Amino acid sequence: MEDIKMGDAKAPYAALKSELDDAFQLAMENMANPDVPQVLKLAQTLQDYLQVRQVVPCSHGADALVLALQTLQLPQQAEVILPAFGDSFAAGAIKRLGLTPVFADVLPTTFTLDPVSVAKLITDKTVAIMPMHLFGQCADMAQLLALAETQQLLLLEDTTQALGAVYRLPGGKEQRAGTMGHLAFASLLPTKPLACQDEGGAVIVNSQNLCDTFQIAELPWATAAVQFQKTTTDTKIANLQAAMVEVKLRYLDQFNQARQEVAAVYDDLFKDTSLLQIPGHTPNSTLIYLQYTIKVPATLRDKLKQHLQDNYIPSAVYYPEPLHLQDGQTPGSLPVAEELAKTVLSLPLHAGLTVEQQTYVAQQVLSFLEKNL
Ligand SMILES: *Cc1c(COP(=O)(O)O)cnc(C)c1O
Repeated sequence: MEDIKMGDAKAPYAALKSELDDAFQLAMENMANPDVPQVLKLAQTLQDYLQVRQVVPCSHGADALVLALQTLQLPQQAEVILPAFGDSFAAGAIKRLGLTPVFADVLPTTFTLDPVSVAKLITDKTVAIMPMHLFGQCADMAQLLALAETQQLLLLEDTTQALGAVYRLPGGKEQRAGTMGHLAFASLLPTKPLACQDEGGAVIVNSQNLCDTFQIAELPWATAAVQFQKTTTDTKIANLQAAMVEVKLRYLDQFNQARQEVAAVYDDLFKDTSLLQIPGHTPNSTLIYLQYTIKVPATLRDKLKQHLQDNYIPSAVYYPEPLHLQDGQTPGSLPVAEELAKTVLSLPLHAGLTVEQQTYVAQQVLSFLEKNL
């Protein structure tokens, strides 16, 4: 059996080599072209794929969030509500802009933002709700959209981890993650579903009003994105990275589906056990499995991780410390996020994983839990 890897960022290159090489060559030939054709093509392809008004590629996910927040021109100290269980970078970006992050709890089966917890935290300073579409599926958008509408708040989606996932809104309309709120942003780091070789990100603009705020609404998309790229050189995505992502985007659904098939094998291997909890599904959202994250008893999680490592199986803890505790709040206020930080474990997941490897992983997990519970 081959070594088991946690992920496989290199696989798409092997699969798409000739198309990628062509795109790179074209990018090199266009090196001195100030009109950044690769960037514009990426903007257009992503805009078509998501069916949104505007996509602005940029250099990082964090830049995309900062751009999105700056665009909204929110008052200092305004409050942005976001999940306490997730990537820490967003809270940092919010603070650097003079805004106040307010952490809400998450749901115990899908680990995404809990609308009931959000509702309790809304004050007259709240301006926005920022769900994170965690591990490959949408947050509970029906509830969050309703809340944003009744409370007149902006809804900003962190769609990094679920790019390509589809959500069925009340009424039946299906939309992709990142296209339901006013604005969305995504990181295109190598570990994300749509990935550069190095760094990249995108702002996704969904509302007409916000296009006006970007002052690009009247311009045709191409001119607008060129203007944007020229005026904000520090946040520009590199041409070669844009060229790569544009090719990979054409195959995003295929890659996402391949991971779903691998995840289904784990689901099946774990279907008869009550020793662990497999990933739960948000109603009406597809799940593209950026991670396959199980929940195990808190007393055994770290020991299980070590046991797997001793048996040549990598695993990871996303996320080991809830954001409100990193921010100095006292434990006990957001019990679900706090419990998840102690009980989650992400197992190896990528399209190249074989059933033999997955069977071995599942056997090691189950036999350890049976022996130690
Ligand atoms: C990785 C990640 C980010 C960070 O993006 P950068 O490109 O490192 O700035 C943001 N949000 C989520 C949900 C992530 O997984």
